[in-house]
Amino acid sequence: MNVHKAELLISAVGPDQYPDGNLPEIAFAGRSNVGKSSFINTITQRKKLAYTSQQPGKTRTLNFFSINDICHFVDIPGYGYAKVSKKEREFWGRMTEEYLQTRPQLKGVVLLIDARHEPSDQDLMMYDWLKYYELPVILVITKMDKVKKTKRTAHIKQILSSIDPSSEDGHVLFSSETGEGKEEAWRAIRRLASI
Ligand code: GDP
Repeated sequence: MNVHKAELLISAVGPDQYPDGNLPEIAFAGRSNVGKSSFINTITQRKKLAYTSQQPGKTRTLNFFSINDICHFVDIPGYGYAKVSKKEREFWGRMTEEYLQTRPQLKGVVLLIDARHEPSDQDLMMYDWLKYYELPVILVITKMDKVKKTKRTAHIKQILSSIDPSSEDGHVLFSSETGEGKEEAWRAIRRLASI
């Protein structure tokens, strides 16, 4: 998909700041450092739309982007960064839960998983949480360029068996280094957002 317009609308911490209107929204979640910003930047053909690895201590917000004026992307701050305080983690939980639970425009969530590691407990919790809210999920397995060609099949099988996704949730193998999976990711996103 050709992205001719991509801009940050607002960095929000609560519903009163969410953008008005009825455009469909797709949210992006994952452990910090999973490659979420790189994924958003790659598929929108922008170098710095989403900021790479926000520093701990900085305000962590839900960032709403307008894409081609036809949908919103919502970047949820990464989880699992060890040095984040309990208070900050709780704030993240409340902010994220409020969004996932109350936003009718939200059509589905892209959950990014690092191809190099077993999904973490937090990844599994995040997936279960999304399913609890009955949200469709696209699993995007990132950093595929780091997995040896001969090990791809076994690796993916292992990741999928630990997440055990429901049959309606697709998965996309992706690399922001090689561009693998870019079109497939767009197809999955467009299907979810009906755009
Ligand atoms: P975020 O914290 O989830 O937003 O992750 P970033 O997009 O900032 O990426 C974290 C680190 O992983 C950076 O050093 C990126 O260059 C690197 N990275 C992201 N995606 C890929 C990928 O597909 N392949 C490789 N090899 N590195 C990646």
